[in-house]
Amino acid sequence: MGKALIIGAGGVASVCIHKCCQNPDVFEEICIASRTKSKCDALKEKLDGGKTKISTAQVNADNVNELITLINNFKPDVVINLALPYQDLTIMDACLATKVNYVDTANYEPLDTAKFEYKWQWAYRERFEKAGITALLGSGFDPGVTGVFSAYAMKHHFDEINYIDILDCNAGDHGYPFATNFNPEINIREVSAKGSYIENGKWIETEPMEIKRVYNFPEIGEKDMYLLHHEELESLALNIKGIKRIRFFMTFGQSYLTHLKCLENVGMTSIETIEFEGKQIVPLQFLKAVLPDPASLGPRTKGKTNIGCIFIGKKDGKNKTYYLYNVCDHQECYKEVGSQAVSYTTGVPAMIGAAMLLTGKWNKPGVHNIEEFDPDPFMDALNKFGLPWQESFNPDLVD
Ligand code: NDP
Repeated sequence: MGKALIIGAGGVASVCIHKCCQNPDVFEEICIASRTKSKCDALKEKLDGGKTKISTAQVNADNVNELITLINNFKPDVVINLALPYQDLTIMDACLATKVNYVDTANYEPLDTAKFEYKWQWAYRERFEKAGITALLGSGFDPGVTGVFSAYAMKHHFDEINYIDILDCNAGDHGYPFATNFNPEINIREVSAKGSYIENGKWIETEPMEIKRVYNFPEIGEKDMYLLHHEELESLALNIKGIKRIRFFMTFGQSYLTHLKCLENVGMTSIETIEFEGKQIVPLQFLKAVLPDPASLGPRTKGKTNIGCIFIGKKDGKNKTYYLYNVCDHQECYKEVGSQAVSYTTGVPAMIGAAMLLTGKWNKPGVHNIEEFDPDPFMDALNKFGLPWQESFNPDLVD
């Protein structure tokens, strides 16, 4: 059916590429392009021989001209951006110049400030619409499936949704005292930022990890979780009818938090450049270099993730509660594609989002967040490609 250019060859890209190859009628041809070409070649070697034709290329995704040349050579129908959030705008610029659809899993953030906002990417709306191409923002799990769950709840179960709590639980144990399950720099920037949530149309800011709750997760049990800022709050508050409050909680174990506090206290999580032995370095980037590579956690991680949304709202004048979630097993993911569940739960929806555009099931020129599209074909594909969802009409609530 079409050709996809995948940028990045890290944990998430690896899963997405496996899944494209499991869906060869849609992904007839893919090109894996990243900064380090040997990683692209290793993935090609692992997956070659199936129906999907695979090629590789080296690209610096910070450079728009390099991207344009690559796109003009390969002529994809969609570009799947699985590099880092810093590259979102250059890749969007290249898609605009070549009139190719765009998909990502994380919103743009400038290198020097950990600010998670859609304003930079939403500023491309008119230009994408005029060019007749679609940018699908946030097609991972959260953001991503959480937005699809919200659109599905709205379409099938509510007249208005007043409260959403997004709960992200990772009960995986990798056996290290401290490691992050995806890119450490991105992960630590996210969790050391101030928390926030939206209430009555206003952002309410909290100190990092100030709000803690305990939740009894289906198939996992009780875990401590903490309120974080998360990018989909901004778009869901605008796109879902009737929202009064929307919050995001993520689970963290005590060992992770104690190490993080210590690293913060000694300045290792700072994103300010410092001089060290005559070189300019960013402490957080140095820390990334000494931490375990998230890709190496796959074989060691045991346990499950449970990510989902609790919706409270009204249907036919009556109050209603609805919980949609997915449970994913780290070891099962590793057996299937050689990655742990955090990469898996992001890489599968990235493939599905691109498939929605390639098949024309989703076609809306402009720049759109995922909840703006019909959730039904995406929900079907989640069941088919390894992320089956479950529902409950009587869940425990978060106070
Ligand atoms: P990794 O660090 O494992 O992979 C990033 C890849 O991008 C690497 O292959 C890296 O190359 C490549 N890259 C980085 N900079 C450039 C550049 N300038 N030009 C070309 N390639 C580049 O990250 P993950 O796979 O864990 O995460 C990928 C994305 O997924 C991130 O944006 C992350 O925020 C997002 N994410 C989203 C989630 C969601 O649920 N929505 C959850 C988890 C992650 P090299 O190999 O040379 O380093």
